[in-house]
Amino acid sequence: MFPKCPKCGYEHPSGTAPVEQCPSCGLVFRKYLQALAGAPARAEAEPVGADEEKPKLLARLVYVPDEVESWRVWTGAALLWEAPGLVFSTLFFC
Ligand SMILES: [Zn+2]
Repeated sequence: MFPKCPKCGYEHPSGTAPVEQCPSCGLVFRKYLQALAGAPARAEAEPVGADEEKPKLLARLVYVPDEVESWRVWTGAALLWEAPGLVFSTLFFC
């Protein structure tokens, strides 16, 4: 996803599979992107890190942009769609 961690600057060795999380500082890139998309402009100036979860949760409560919301809705819909299929395939093939 990121060739270089936006938080700590850790560079992933080339040729490895795409990583979701920085192995150095533990930053989850998806959450980082959500924070970038969802946080109010002034929050972007602050470093994403130490107190990562609290400001983000607060930002989500206060301000939920359409693109994040639709992303979450579609993910939820996909999970709901997949779940029964997984149960059925387990019943039928085991
Ligand atoms: Zn990092």
